[in-house]
Amino acid sequence: MSDNSSTTPITCPKCNSQNCFKNGFIHGRNQRYHCRNCSFNFTDKTDINYKDPKTKPEELKKLALKLYLKGNSYRDIEDI
Ligand SMILES: [Zn+2]
Repeated sequence: MSDNSSTTPITCPKCNSQNCFKNGFIHGRNQRYHCRNCSFNFTDKTDINYKDPKTKPEELKKLALKLYLKGNSYRDIEDI
């Protein structure tokens, strides 16, 4: 399995769309992303710590599973 972080699809933590692009850095360290689908701004830390009171537990479970399945990729991003 090739693991190139530059081609890893970024998933929006809010709408799960992969129509996201890099949008600079926060604090000069954390990669920031912008979702074209819902205009949500997030970082590679956001999807792990992101908690929306409006988000249903089921959606959180799905998100957690998704993050688990692509855990390796996310680790690569965090190491940058
Ligand atoms: Zn989105």
